[in-house]
Amino acid sequence: MGKLQKSTYFCGMNYEAVIGLEIHIQLNTQSKVFCGDALRFGDVPNSHTSPVGLGMPGSLPVLNVAAIEKAMVLGLALGCTINKYNEFVRKHYFYPDLPKGYQITQGAHPICLGGGLDSGAFGVEIHHIHLEEDAGKSLHDQHDFFSYIDLNRAGTPLLELVTEPCIKSAEEAHWFLSEIRRLVRWLGVSDGNLEAGSLRCDANVSVRVAGEKMLGNKVEIKNLNSLRSVKRAIEGEIVRQTALKNEDKTILQQTRGYDAKKNTTYALRDKEAAQDYRYFADPDLPPHCITQKEIDEVASKLPELPQIWQKRLVADFNLSEFDAALLTENIETATYYQQITAHTEQHKMAANWLLGSIKAHLNAQNIGILELGIDPKKIAALLNLVADGRISQGIATQKILAHLYQNPEADILEINGSLGSVETENVADLSVLIAEILASYPEKVAEYRKGKKGLMGLFVGELMKKTGGKADAKLATAGFVAGLK
Ligand code: ADP
Ligand code: MG
Repeated sequence: MGKLQKSTYFCGMNYEAVIGLEIHIQLNTQSKVFCGDALRFGDVPNSHTSPVGLGMPGSLPVLNVAAIEKAMVLGLALGCTINKYNEFVRKHYFYPDLPKGYQITQGAHPICLGGGLDSGAFGVEIHHIHLEEDAGKSLHDQHDFFSYIDLNRAGTPLLELVTEPCIKSAEEAHWFLSEIRRLVRWLGVSDGNLEAGSLRCDANVSVRVAGEKMLGNKVEIKNLNSLRSVKRAIEGEIVRQTALKNEDKTILQQTRGYDAKKNTTYALRDKEAAQDYRYFADPDLPPHCITQKEIDEVASKLPELPQIWQKRLVADFNLSEFDAALLTENIETATYYQQITAHTEQHKMAANWLLGSIKAHLNAQNIGILELGIDPKKIAALLNLVADGRISQGIATQKILAHLYQNPEADILEINGSLGSVETENVADLSVLIAEILASYPEKVAEYRKGKKGLMGLFVGELMKKTGGKADAKLATAGFVAGLK
């Protein structure tokens, strides 16, 4: 009985959740969206502010077309329709970190319409994406009595992606946001960092009787600065609203904050009436028109998208969905994996190495794959040596890879040779030792070459001495035959 009540409470039976996300994406252009101030995170406060950014009378904004291009890249990747006619409007409100007294945004003519992402199990539809400018930052923790303002962020190009109210659970919302994060990074349009605020998400949540058409009153949750917070805040909000419904109480149309430490939401403000922002077209910014040629050009340069790349890894290389998702977490890792697999058939082992030893090394050093410095061909060659039984997997990952991390330029066979080859009976790459032995017996080598084949016993014997008898005799002989040609 208790169990049954609980599942009703968790809205599994009578109620269903409806969720819509508003995702703000800071574009990583060189300069701001309407002036030439540099975009730099973490610099001295107010060091990147010009008359336009400060909203000085008489200063005129100029659209940064790099922001338009990045918006098109993301829009096309998400299957949106690109709006050719782009208008900018002023949205008026008062806030200390908004020096002009209005924010430049897009009203009825957002740059992207429609589009969405499909997980295979469910889809998330996008209502639109529009381009706007970010506000500055109020700093409340620098002084006991005063708040400070940093306007470096003011004017950062910001895309606002608004989904339809079509998301049905916290898991779906979490999936969509993480896909957007992967995508913006993949496309190189944003750092996509939730913790640092380059990706921000507000979640709109309502519940209704399952199957009903009408939407319930929604609550908008703010301050969600991690994927985990988004998931937990939505889960908690669904429970809260369902409980209210069960008690037949009204759900207030509210904006709520999320406290990650307490894992609860709290009321910020009630939405009694829509605020009047006194929107009007910005008279200083002419409408920006995008041509079909520009759209086609951006579309033709789009890289293969991560979801498709991931599917291809599963289909072509028989990798698990999980491994394929990790390998396509960012385009650098996916590309590195592709470069390895272009030179070896050891696809599965390559994935294991990349997601195991190599990833652990990158994490420990706090570096990305681009800073690894090891030619992917070399990794492929090592994989092939293991597959041919010439080097054991253990030696390859624990010794040779470990050595390559420190000396990316080193030669695999030389490293293996210098390990002494006595580590295991499987260690059979003896080329360095063979070369040493041959070099120390120049006359015997000459005699052998003249036909005294019996000298092979001497050479192999020397090798056995050096390896404590652990070298594979057959491979050793083959190695000498090759070395004596
Ligand atoms: P507002 O006018 O309050 O800004 P919008 O209609 O612009 O609301 O929608 C903002 C976001 O809220 C969108 O992502 C939308 O999908 C979502 N949304 C709208 N109504 C609901 C609802 N009843 N329940 C859940 N999400 C909703
Ligand atoms: Mg809205």
